[in-house]
Amino acid sequence: MEKSQDDNEFCRALVVSIHDVSPLTQRRTYEILLDLAEVGIRDVSLLVIPDHHRRARIADDPEFARWLRGECAGGREAVLHGYFHLRESRGDDGPWKRIVTRSYTAGEGEFFDLEKPTALALLRSGRAALNACGVSCTGFVAPAWLLGSGAEEAVVEADFDYTTRIATVSDFRSGRVHRSRSQVWSVRAGWRRTCSLAWNATLFRAASDSPLARIGIHPPDWDHPAIRRQILKLARQALATRRPMTYGGWLVGTRAAS
Ligand SMILES: [Zn+2]
Repeated sequence: MEKSQDDNEFCRALVVSIHDVSPLTQRRTYEILLDLAEVGIRDVSLLVIPDHHRRARIADDPEFARWLRGECAGGREAVLHGYFHLRESRGDDGPWKRIVTRSYTAGEGEFFDLEKPTALALLRSGRAALNACGVSCTGFVAPAWLLGSGAEEAVVEADFDYTTRIATVSDFRSGRVHRSRSQVWSVRAGWRRTCSLAWNATLFRAASDSPLARIGIHPPDWDHPAIRRQILKLARQALATRRPMTYGGWLVGTRAAS
């Protein structure tokens, strides 16, 4: 018997996420969401930072909370994304840690090497901050996707349903790790932007058979018209064969279908 569209709908998905959502990036996030809605994408995962760089506590910002509640009521999903999104450099950092934490992540790999108890405390405070805004969250994504093993144990213990890394989505409910590399753009320098455009065009073609396509957007991407154009173009192309959904929605569907 031929499979219906419904049987297949969770096999061909597009998850678009916006990283680093906070009062510091709210206006830009709103613009990105408008552009995505114009393309036909309303189900978006918003990766929210509870106190961005220790300068923007969401729980103390009623206007941000109201906005976030409205977005979640309209189909978006709030995902916890670190706590401060900042990793303090430490005296005992060796050369490798210095490369990863400063060059690769620009000092933002907050959950890269946290001890489990520290991670657990931040995860609980982060969830409480989102709840104080009137939204719930089932997922956690570490800043720069850098999640150490102690911190990952804490994510499970704090009862989150899932986490994502650059090449995987880990479902703690089913125990499955879904392989899917996220599109992501690096815009900090001109040469990085040029490389990003070429790499993402190639990656998009290479991932065309994957059940799940992922597009990860950072607010500074929208400062660069060529990057913004490519993201929207790839999103539009993906929609020809995929249904847009949030990480949470996709995982609920895949669990039910397996
Ligand atoms: Zn981030």
